[in-house]
Amino acid sequence: MAPKGFIIDFSNACIVVTGGNRGIGLEISKAIAKAGGKVAIIYKSSPDAGEVADKIENQYGVEARAYKCDVVDPILVSQTFLKVDKELGPITGLVANAGITIQKPAMEMTTEDFTSIFNVNVLGVFNTAKSAAKLWIDRNYQGGSIVINSSISARIYNRKGANEPITQVFYNSSKAAVSNLCKGLAAEWAQHNIRVNAIAPGYVDTDIVDVDPKVRQYINDNVPAGRFAKPEEITGQTILLLSDYASYMTGGEYLIDGGQTIW
Ligand code: NDP
Repeated sequence: MAPKGFIIDFSNACIVVTGGNRGIGLEISKAIAKAGGKVAIIYKSSPDAGEVADKIENQYGVEARAYKCDVVDPILVSQTFLKVDKELGPITGLVANAGITIQKPAMEMTTEDFTSIFNVNVLGVFNTAKSAAKLWIDRNYQGGSIVINSSISARIYNRKGANEPITQVFYNSSKAAVSNLCKGLAAEWAQHNIRVNAIAPGYVDTDIVDVDPKVRQYINDNVPAGRFAKPEEITGQTILLLSDYASYMTGGEYLIDGGQTIW
């Protein structure tokens, strides 16, 4: 994992990517593999996650495996991390990327909606980060890196029209919670040389963003870059934060938003 010139070399790395089978997580999995790192993809239910891992393995010539695991379940997460560590490891990094949203007006939101969103977006991040950090602290591994996929929604409310918010209050508040969780974990684990950072993407073209063409046009008109990000555009900062180039970076949150939060 030591930097070689300006090339990132993950040949001694084994990185867990939650939600690494599709969307942003898939591109992050591919970028890790491209840099020579082994990848453990954690997914919830997609039937083709194993094939996705095989494809990565064939394309980049590194080991990649898919592990079915609901990040909400702390016991399952802990068991899965031990399994990955034994089969592919030792684990050196984690991208806590899995996330969900529910869009409907606040008046229609329920306790169940709150629980399911906060369970995945906050507790799921905590469960996976804790399992990774436990492995590292137990073996006195210095240099573990955790990257949390938050969102600009932690800071601003996205709009789909002049005065029309995108109605996802629990998603936004879960992302604000996870951005703060990042700082707390970074502060507590710095003594073990474990770094915890967050990325905050703007709109990225994936399954989670379900907008009609009129809304898309409005969003494009209101993002300085004039477009959504492609999922692969979220990989650079993530890879940097996982690498030793970022050895003095912890507790930070990094915008990848095409300038959306400038105004
Ligand atoms: P996708 O909907 O494309 O993918 C979500 C991934 O999360 C899937 O791999 C899914 O697995 C996995 N997942 C969901 N729930 C669980 C669970 N309980 N346990 C394990 N895995 C789970 O989303 P994106 O790629 O768009 O989003 C990835 C992250 O990026 C999320 O945290 C999202 O909030 C964040 N983000 C996205 C933005 C966007 O515009 N797209 C903008 C800012 C942040 P499976 O396939 O098995 O269902």
